[in-house]
Amino acid sequence: HPFLAQRVLGAKPSATKEMTRMANQLKREGRTVIALSQGEPDFPTPAHVRAAAKEAIDRNESRYTDVAGTFALREAVVRKFERENGLHYTPEQIQVGCGAKQILYNALQATVNPGDEVVVPTPAWVSYPEMVLLAGGTPVIVRCGAHSGFKITPEQLEAAITPRTKWVMLNSPSNPSGAVYSRDELAALGEVLLRHPQVWMMADDIYEKIRYDATPFATPAAVTPELATRTLTINGVSKAYAMTGWRVGFGAGPLELIKAMNLVQSQSTSHTSSISQAASIAALDGPMDFLPAFVDAFQRRRDAVVTRLNAIEGVSCELPPGAFYAFPGVQGLLGRRDKSGKLVSTDADLALYLLREAGVAIVPGSAFELPGHLRFSYAASDEDLSEALRRVAAACAELH
Ligand code: PLP
Repeated sequence: HPFLAQRVLGAKPSATKEMTRMANQLKREGRTVIALSQGEPDFPTPAHVRAAAKEAIDRNESRYTDVAGTFALREAVVRKFERENGLHYTPEQIQVGCGAKQILYNALQATVNPGDEVVVPTPAWVSYPEMVLLAGGTPVIVRCGAHSGFKITPEQLEAAITPRTKWVMLNSPSNPSGAVYSRDELAALGEVLLRHPQVWMMADDIYEKIRYDATPFATPAAVTPELATRTLTINGVSKAYAMTGWRVGFGAGPLELIKAMNLVQSQSTSHTSSISQAASIAALDGPMDFLPAFVDAFQRRRDAVVTRLNAIEGVSCELPPGAFYAFPGVQGLLGRRDKSGKLVSTDADLALYLLREAGVAIVPGSAFELPGHLRFSYAASDEDLSEALRRVAAACAELH
């Protein structure tokens, strides 16, 4: 439409939301659809967090807050980074926004000029390249396959950097692959960045708490402290505290960057909900004793889903060490035909086939810039996962 802006015409809507929309459409038509397309914990928000929100309502905490977030929440964020990550910030170096998503968006809006490049190792969350485009920048996609554990190597990073590179966006544990960068791997990437002072690191740690092995969590600014002056560390309450709908995320970094991000926020959303902010203080400062049960449940589901995926001929799935997604390679199924003789040649064809045939909504790897894969979210009930995998296996067996 001629009325729409170029930057909108150039961007794609979120593929995960699109899959969910198609699944809902089929549901309205009376089909039983199991949606494994959205990444959100199916647990309730912890009771003490809900109680804190109710108290904030009754205290009438219903006014505008600071653009950067309430001082009390930013202090709680400072304590979180100190205690859990060994990172030292002042409250002025913290921005709270409407989810980690808005922190990423603010940062790109605040820093990216037309023609600037942002290195996006893929598979990556669908929003990364699109947010770079919306900021007028150029996403530089670096595909990282199963052979490197879906992680970017120092050589790949070095090769992707140009004088126009502004950021590298790193997500560990990763959506969609579940990959987790070790301390040594981050140190090696940090060494590359030390040679390129124009490049900043955007570290999206939103899945920090969803990990299945004993390796301690590592974050770039702590691993390479020399880089802390050009690192934005992003986290939030959505995934760890089952608070996706509350819309609270936060970022920590150099003061000048945070100030510029506050400017973007002040002229767009102002801030996230005052009640959600009060609840998030309770989340960050409160007990984490509910977490092992969360993670155990996810781990049980992960193990079941990965085992059943690998039992499907033509499918091969690594055991993801973090997040709540399985990301199997499905190349072995591509090029086959369905019952009606229709060719299934891409991962997107396969995802559509599985939606129509099996009534299971999943997202094709191409949406995450790594074709030949599918992403299954296992943040769903055991019964739904079991039934979904039964249907997927049966539909895959019908391809020939
Ligand atoms: N970063 C990644 C990698 C994600 O997968 C998501 C949510 O799916 C987010 C950020 C956004 O989280 P929030 O709900 O805090 O905006």
